[in-house]
Amino acid sequence: MGATTLTFATRSGSQAHDGPVADYPALYIGGQWVAPTDGGTMESIDPATGRVWARVAFGGKGDIDRAVAAARAAFDGEWGRMPPHERAALMRRFADLYRQNVERLAQLETRDSGRALRESRADVGMHHNYYHWFASLADKHHGRTIPMDDSVHAFTSRLPLGVVGAICPWNVPLMSACWKLGPALAAGCTVVLKPAEQTPVTALELGALIEEAGFPAGVVNVVPGYGAGGAGEALAAHSDVNKISFTGEADTARAILKTGADSLKRYTFELGGKSPHILFADADVEQALNAATNSAWTLCGQSCALGSRVLVERPIYDRVVETFASRAAKVRVGMPLDEATHMGPQSSADQLEKTLRYVGFGRDDGAELLAGGKRIERESLAGGYFVEPTVFANATNDMRIAREEIFGPVAALIPFDDEAEAIALANDTAYGLTAGLWTQNVGRAHRVSAKIQAGIVWVNTYRYLRWTTPYGGFKASGWGRENGLEALDSYLDTRTTVVSTAGTFPDAYAS
Ligand code: NAD
Repeated sequence: MGATTLTFATRSGSQAHDGPVADYPALYIGGQWVAPTDGGTMESIDPATGRVWARVAFGGKGDIDRAVAAARAAFDGEWGRMPPHERAALMRRFADLYRQNVERLAQLETRDSGRALRESRADVGMHHNYYHWFASLADKHHGRTIPMDDSVHAFTSRLPLGVVGAICPWNVPLMSACWKLGPALAAGCTVVLKPAEQTPVTALELGALIEEAGFPAGVVNVVPGYGAGGAGEALAAHSDVNKISFTGEADTARAILKTGADSLKRYTFELGGKSPHILFADADVEQALNAATNSAWTLCGQSCALGSRVLVERPIYDRVVETFASRAAKVRVGMPLDEATHMGPQSSADQLEKTLRYVGFGRDDGAELLAGGKRIERESLAGGYFVEPTVFANATNDMRIAREEIFGPVAALIPFDDEAEAIALANDTAYGLTAGLWTQNVGRAHRVSAKIQAGIVWVNTYRYLRWTTPYGGFKASGWGRENGLEALDSYLDTRTTVVSTAGTFPDAYAS
């Protein structure tokens, strides 16, 4: 199967990205496309070929200073004064533009991250709904009237936090940006968006759509750059940034907290996971297997919600093992722009190396390698970071492949004997992002889901996400929620106003 040849039209000029390297020479700051002052040019590698496919401007501390100043000026200026329904109208215009550009954005996302086009399309094709839904909330963050005695009138007002630093990961760049921009703009905040250094392109494309939608200068600024020592750290440290909304690894969140400690800003942290996917023997096993295999390999394993710990009740264990092995052989790993490809490459050489290292840990710890476990080196994929969908049987929950986030397409199949053991295994993890469970017993569905320590529990489905459903983690999986009303709330502050109806105040020193 050969790669489909596609021609990309980028904002920096129409180029066929199969050949010439795409050029993104400017940052988007204060409504202008500007050269970096203390950054430079970074190369974005196409993970399917290992070759440079784009050259992209990146910013340093000075550029972050400029971007934060522009965001502050917009917050204190036109954007801050704009009536909420007008902000909503701009967001809706942006959402419509986004929708018109879905195919192009999905292709660019695939090119930058290696995600199979069919997955990028399905994901990116949903984002306009998020933007529209958050637009609909822009004039609905009401305060409350607080019952008091007759001498005062007390009420709350919801106020935007101010300037937000949005720091995104490389696995789902457009989704992550969407989950931050939607609620931040609906709340009335302004944003400095820093995409991951591995996938800088689509954030700049978002900047172009923001410009086309007609947002006032500085409402959204886009500064690609590095993390530690670069634009990411500068944003996290900046004293005029009111909130950091970060998606990435737990260790990076810890570093961001230390960096920002002096400024006492707010945080949302969307971090990693090691999600249990529990298959009870009383489940509709065929459906459960469809979900369990897909959720272990989706995004080439580079999903925070990956159902990588598959907990299987013993009576169906052999069937699950056989199906995982046979399904692994059916996964079409290939060039990510090929319409037929199920699974593209890992996003970077580092990530490929990490996945292979963990395959070694699985073997060393005594798990049985049932399928996969190797880099794919056939000629058509040579040069890319392709790995086989991998299955370990007879894994135990104390093995490294069951405890640590691999971020590769590696499933660990772990048997259990009863409900209590399933719950104990599910919760025996540092993480608590997502979980899945399959059972046709409605009592068990409620009983077990109520005991799982995870921010979202899917029953008889998996990875079902919508703009309306709060998403985020317990434990080391993060702080706060993205999506749903909770997300909007996290970009707002509360002011309580107490007005005396009498206007009198007793003299405490009269006697
Ligand atoms: P990462 O933590 O290495 O990097 C994420 C971002 O942080 C990048 O933009 C990077 O440049 C920046 N960064 C790095 N060091 C920094 C520092 N010291 N200060 C400020 N910024 C810094 O994460 P990654 O490898 O890009 O992404 C993968 C991780 O993201 C996984 O753990 C995955 O589970 C998690 N993730 C979570 C969710 C979720 O919603 N919970 C979604 C997607 C990914």
